[in-house]
Amino acid sequence: MGQVPLFTLAGFLLLYPGILVAAPAEDVRLSVRERFWHITDLHLDATYHLADDPAKVCLSSKGAPAIKAGIYGDFLCDSPYSLIQSAFAHMSHVTPQTDFIIWTGDSPPHVPAGELSTDMVIQLISNMSETIRDHFPRLPVFPALGNHDYWPQDQMPSSTNAIYQAAAKLWAPWLQAEALHTLREGGFYSQLARPGLRVVSLNTILYYGPDKATANASDPAGQYQWLQGTLERAAQNLEKVFIIAHVPVGYLPFTRGITAVRKHHNERLVSIFRKYSHVIQGHFYGHTHRDSLMVLLDEEGKPLNSIFVSPAVTPIKSVTEPYSNNPAFRMCFYDASDFTLLDIWQYYLNLTEANERQRADWRREYVMTEAFGLEDLQPQSLLQLALSFKLPQANSFDKYFSHFMVSYDDRIRCEKDCKLSQVCAVLHLDHKAYSECVRGRSVQDSFALL
Ligand SMILES: [Zn+2]
Ligand SMILES: [Zn+2]
Repeated sequence: MGQVPLFTLAGFLLLYPGILVAAPAEDVRLSVRERFWHITDLHLDATYHLADDPAKVCLSSKGAPAIKAGIYGDFLCDSPYSLIQSAFAHMSHVTPQTDFIIWTGDSPPHVPAGELSTDMVIQLISNMSETIRDHFPRLPVFPALGNHDYWPQDQMPSSTNAIYQAAAKLWAPWLQAEALHTLREGGFYSQLARPGLRVVSLNTILYYGPDKATANASDPAGQYQWLQGTLERAAQNLEKVFIIAHVPVGYLPFTRGITAVRKHHNERLVSIFRKYSHVIQGHFYGHTHRDSLMVLLDEEGKPLNSIFVSPAVTPIKSVTEPYSNNPAFRMCFYDASDFTLLDIWQYYLNLTEANERQRADWRREYVMTEAFGLEDLQPQSLLQLALSFKLPQANSFDKYFSHFMVSYDDRIRCEKDCKLSQVCAVLHLDHKAYSECVRGRSVQDSFALL
């Protein structure tokens, strides 16, 4: 980043009235921080109500008693509308004007297929799209489709269908003709968010294990070919790219050896992202409902890309899961001159407290650079953070894991095998490197292999 002469700075501020961060007096470098929201996994359960019988509070608890149900929800249920409304109300209160919103999918609730239909799924996507538009009438929104945004869930096909067509209609106020065309055909698109910055919204459900409709296709909906062409053109036009999608690339951090998309698709995505890492400035995903990050390394271990998985608005967990996440959304900051990622402000609602007080006091959970003592969120910084997880005296990993659950319960610890899975998932996205990492019997052993 070079020096910004004052006369252009004034003009720049008129155009982009973001936060101006002035460096110390002896250093005249100035950078303009711009911001966008990232929200994901709203999972509206319209059946949620405070019933006398706790087993009947919400269909998404699947008969399990929601004994702590309150007006803002329960950890065994998907989001009541009041929770979603309170989230958007707080977002528009914090800052009515940001650059744009990234919304990475999953509007319908976790209920048996028989409780939904194609029409109901479209209605739910429509309801959530309208809710966002009501709160942010002038803001561009870049959505991605989730595995629940289809009926039956996960079964997204390689060709046009009622859902892709409905999405293109509902999102027409936000997207341009070219984006709407590919969205209608394959559920993906790209569009410039501002001059020089392109959002590429992938339909990673096409690569998702449970999707039987694409099981035998090597390039479902031609998305790989389109993605490479799009990244190639972006490189030629000197644009930078934010990749957004619902199901993330890489390994699931809470289990061992399982990629979020099919293994061969994961390898292919990793190799495309490595090849075009100079074009891509950040990845933003959802789906796991938890707060995690990854740093994409090249074969020699050099950091290439920063990857962020945002926690969900829905607080749902199954009866057997030991922990869940508090409802969450986040604000991301980037440098307006080169689109590098600067920071993330994570917001959350303490659900138990909100239900007790009958008031939704959304608060900032943490500021990523402050929480971990980082300069910014560039790949090198994230690599440093991930390497700090291994230091015996460092509490950075405990903090990271507490954030992973969105401060659900600090008494729950992640050690030994749990920690090894988490740390290997942060650092290694391809099969070879990940397998070597988890092969170590302790975190210490595995780090010798880094
Ligand atoms: Zn979800
Ligand atoms: Zn999902």
